[in-house]
Amino acid sequence: MAELWLASGNRKKRAELERILAPLRVTLRTPDELPAPFAPVEDAPDFAGNAAIKARALARMVRGVALADDSGLCVDVLDGRPGVHSARYGGPGLSDAGRLQRLLDELVDVPDHSRGACFLCSLCLCGPDGTIRAAVTGRCDGVLLRSPRGNGGFGYDPAFVPRACLDEPGPPTFADLDPARKDALSHRGQALRTLLARLQAEPALLQP
Ligand code: IMP
Repeated sequence: MAELWLASGNRKKRAELERILAPLRVTLRTPDELPAPFAPVEDAPDFAGNAAIKARALARMVRGVALADDSGLCVDVLDGRPGVHSARYGGPGLSDAGRLQRLLDELVDVPDHSRGACFLCSLCLCGPDGTIRAAVTGRCDGVLLRSPRGNGGFGYDPAFVPRACLDEPGPPTFADLDPARKDALSHRGQALRTLLARLQAEPALLQP
């Protein structure tokens, strides 16, 4: 069975990747298996650049095929922030909940009609020599609530209502949705489905 290395240390994000890639029937491997920590410097100005940095570094390290996700939340009134800094927004000491609260505090005076935001996801697949074999993106538009709601998901999920859910009772945030529904609507789900179709059509992309 072909092997695919996933360049992500975020367990919840990895669970989403594993769920959607299940039809591929490949053995998924992760950097926890490696003797040395995997922590490439993600210093590109955009998601696609950071996904390429991570996929290339892991593919070369393991001499195999590696997939990386780089994603984040872009808020309209903040000119796209936190963007590529989503994972570290507000400083390194914060938890997911602390980071989300920091963002909501910054938006406290922003009226309901201006609370638009989107999640973006870039995926990059690299071969063992670091060559990019596939690069895809996904996007999910929505709005940010004033306070968090829901117990599922991770990161900024509890404040984000996807546009497709705005007219539903609640309305539900990403953290209220069951995993299958989040996958159906999310930036990561969209990017992964595009990649999956490509890999199913061209299985050679998974060969070392
Ligand atoms: P990365 O691991 O460097 O790509 O950082 C991604 C960060 O963006 C995460 O730590 C979250 O803060 C945020 N993020 C990305 N995707 C999602 C999502 O689906 N829900 C909530 N937050 C997300």
